[in-house]
Amino acid sequence: MINFKETNFKDQRVVMRVDFNVPLNAELQVTDDTRIAGAAATISKILNDGGSVVLMSHLGRPKGGSENKFSLKHIITTLQKYFPGVNIHFADDCISDEAFSMSKELKNGEILLLENLRFYPEEEKGNQEFAQKLSKHGSIYINDAFGTAHREHASTATIARFFDSNHKGFGYLMAAEVENASKVLYDSVSPVTAIVGGAKVSDKILLLERLIDSMDNILIGGGMAYTFIAAKGGKIGKSLFEPDYTELALKILKKATEKNTNIYLPEDSVVADQFSADAQYKAVSSNQIPDDWMGLDIGPVATDIYSNVIKSSKTILWNGPMGVFEFKNFSNGTFSIARAVAEATDEGAFSLIGGGDSVSAINKSGLQDRVSYVSTGGGAMLEFLEGKELPGIKAIKE
Ligand code: AMP
Repeated sequence: MINFKETNFKDQRVVMRVDFNVPLNAELQVTDDTRIAGAAATISKILNDGGSVVLMSHLGRPKGGSENKFSLKHIITTLQKYFPGVNIHFADDCISDEAFSMSKELKNGEILLLENLRFYPEEEKGNQEFAQKLSKHGSIYINDAFGTAHREHASTATIARFFDSNHKGFGYLMAAEVENASKVLYDSVSPVTAIVGGAKVSDKILLLERLIDSMDNILIGGGMAYTFIAAKGGKIGKSLFEPDYTELALKILKKATEKNTNIYLPEDSVVADQFSADAQYKAVSSNQIPDDWMGLDIGPVATDIYSNVIKSSKTILWNGPMGVFEFKNFSNGTFSIARAVAEATDEGAFSLIGGGDSVSAINKSGLQDRVSYVSTGGGAMLEFLEGKELPGIKAIKE
């Protein structure tokens, strides 16, 4: 594969997969342009070298066939903000004859944005013919869509077969994601701590199993903690519980002991009498939750213990919130953890906020600039951290 940074793209037309799957409001305006910002440096490098770029992406989940609310034309104004003065053309079908003549006529320094790839069901099926057609839009294929790297789709994986290894590679964003996640998994400085939270233990089993091998400490929070606590015989009231996972939870705890990894469960919890923002709440011991109450946040004692472990760590990975941080009264655990991660980073630790709701939590806390790296890929980052080889990465390396 090519080294993106070292390649000069003068006179080259690059077909590039980006992840412009951004949220739109009812007026079809972009409400969060993080993903566009994430790909901007890669696009700029090609344009500044004197090349041109054909951008392809999906947006939302169209049912097959074109739908105005999922049209990528709605992002052009936002894209233009990142490239003032650059001609941005738009092809309203990604593989029409017109789209191909537009890409052929593209001048150096210009951008062509193709319409939503998922208007063709062939995209998600990884269809060969469709991928081959897409490959005709450029002589070099660059993948900078980390957010969809775990999907074996036409534009993320199959297309790479139509380029030899000297004509395909990763963009800056993709390279940064892989580099930062690899730092935590394979090149970390001890003590290494993972903070794992979120709703369900079933979503995080593979992650926990993988992390036991490489972490010194694993701090567990969020709804998933209660299946562990129940498995150990605790009373968890109406807290989230996945009975089918109690055995696996015990197995994970046992494996951690064997591998000398400290797994922490929250000593106490903030419990609520109903699942709502204005529920009654109080802090109780996590294994003595009253029958009609549910744990919605880690408690003050757990928050202190977790914060101290984080502040004495040199490498930190955070995936998943410590509670229902969307409700103010149950957000303290998550935001205190965010502060501890920022403080540890100030003191020289490397911190990766790896995917999903911990990314929105760190952004909501305003501390996103005080951590080392915030991943743009939810599911993709989770799978990478689980140790899986992502199809989007494999396809480029082959
Ligand atoms: P996930 O997508 O699995 O990372 O889970 C994130 C979601 O889990 C957030 O929307 C949280 O509100 C929710 N969550 C975290 N802790 C709890 C809890 N103790 N009970 C119910 N939901 C929770």
